[in-house]
Amino acid sequence: MQAKIIIKNGFICDGSGTAPQKKDLLIEKGLISAIGEPGAFQDNADCIIDAAGNLVTPGFIDAHSHGDVRKLRYPENRSKLFQGVTTEVDGNCGFSYSCVPGELEDMHWSGLAEYASVMKQRSVSTNTVVLCGHNSIREQVMGKQNVKAGKDEIAAMRRLMEQAFEAGAAGWTSGLTYFPGKFSDTAELLELSVLTKGTNKIHGTHMRSEGEKLLEALHEAIEVARAGSGRLEVSHLKTLFPGNFHKVDQLLQDIRDAQQSGMDVHADRYPYIYTSTRIGQALPSPYNMDPDFATKLRASVDFQEEIAKALEHSPRDLAPTILTAKKKTLAEIAQEKGVSVERACMMEFLESPEQNAAFLSCSPENLEKILSQPWVCAGSDGVSMQLDAGEQFGGHPRAVGTFPTFFRMVSKLCGVAEAVRRMTALPAQIFRIPQRGLLKPGYIADIVVFDSDKFESKAGFRGEDPMPIGMKYVLVGGNVAWDATQPNKVGRYGNFIPIN
Ligand SMILES: [Zn+2]
Repeated sequence: MQAKIIIKNGFICDGSGTAPQKKDLLIEKGLISAIGEPGAFQDNADCIIDAAGNLVTPGFIDAHSHGDVRKLRYPENRSKLFQGVTTEVDGNCGFSYSCVPGELEDMHWSGLAEYASVMKQRSVSTNTVVLCGHNSIREQVMGKQNVKAGKDEIAAMRRLMEQAFEAGAAGWTSGLTYFPGKFSDTAELLELSVLTKGTNKIHGTHMRSEGEKLLEALHEAIEVARAGSGRLEVSHLKTLFPGNFHKVDQLLQDIRDAQQSGMDVHADRYPYIYTSTRIGQALPSPYNMDPDFATKLRASVDFQEEIAKALEHSPRDLAPTILTAKKKTLAEIAQEKGVSVERACMMEFLESPEQNAAFLSCSPENLEKILSQPWVCAGSDGVSMQLDAGEQFGGHPRAVGTFPTFFRMVSKLCGVAEAVRRMTALPAQIFRIPQRGLLKPGYIADIVVFDSDKFESKAGFRGEDPMPIGMKYVLVGGNVAWDATQPNKVGRYGNFIPIN
């Protein structure tokens, strides 16, 4: 039941970039029906939220999420909801299990249309926007092998993309450091991109390189998007490894040049200098091109030696790398085992190259430079987690702390109203999400109320409390989905949002 709700005495920061103003807000039938001076609305509502001393903003939109299937497993999606995220954009880095046949427990889907109805039956707490992932559709059509896509395969991938677009996908993504996307050449991507010409469908990309070939990779991404709708979202924009930190100014300039040429280019970023991915991403070339690497490693002691040696010559400093589930650095693991860091890393590959690891590979100065750009929005790159009371958190803190941390950093760099805009209206505009991202009459009442001085995440890699501090209320579609006075109670009011 969608109640009549008044949020009063708070400072309304509407997402447009306008400074917060003391106003009251009225919600009826799931929509924002009016915003008025303090005391403007009669107290005859079903629910009155006293927001005194707090900021009232649109619900946060996570521009870069990996909710997908995990969200069906953990429909309360606490890791996101507790930060104030009310809408997630899934299907990033080329991975969208929603756009190909899939199953989880007793749930099955053949593609995005069915996934959307499965999600509806499951009642997830947050709203979902989906992008169609190139890795997922390429694997569906031609497996994980290192082969060039022929005419028929490209046609089959285009059919899957078209089906996803018809079912409401906001665009498509690539993840060109992952299998099997890394086997695709620019020509393949161009042929897929053409499908979006004349539409608003965006291309999001985890680029082919974020380090050594960073600028070349950006140019490829721009070329691919230009062949289609001309709309590009660079995923988790960064400069990877100290040897590439100096490229940041050229990187930002090349993006601005593309914008000036008439393209619609944006980026997202999580506010951390540790990246997070599979430990297998530490594999140097050419071993990183072999999808059967893990099997070969297990089968041959000689090959294990070869890998340990190759790691010694890699430009990465592996010592601070954290195995997130173990909550230990490779340096610590190496010391415990009495081996070198590189050998310890090889032994982790042997255990599983799919294990999650966090790499200390970004620059804090460049992070600030990137976050200062008005076209960079917040994106966690995080998965959905349940976070039951007492459960030890073992992951990258970005999954539970991106939004408080982004808010604090961008507020400091650009002011509170701008920080809010980059977490709300900007991602809504980038992904063309209707009626969301602003506090405005007629807009859907996805709203958060939080103490802007206290809003913070203490989450780290060592099992610190993952619960953000300072969030008070999270409303989804005009319903109170979470309130800090009853922290274990979660209401599931999210929807699948088709984008046309
Ligand atoms: Zn990525």
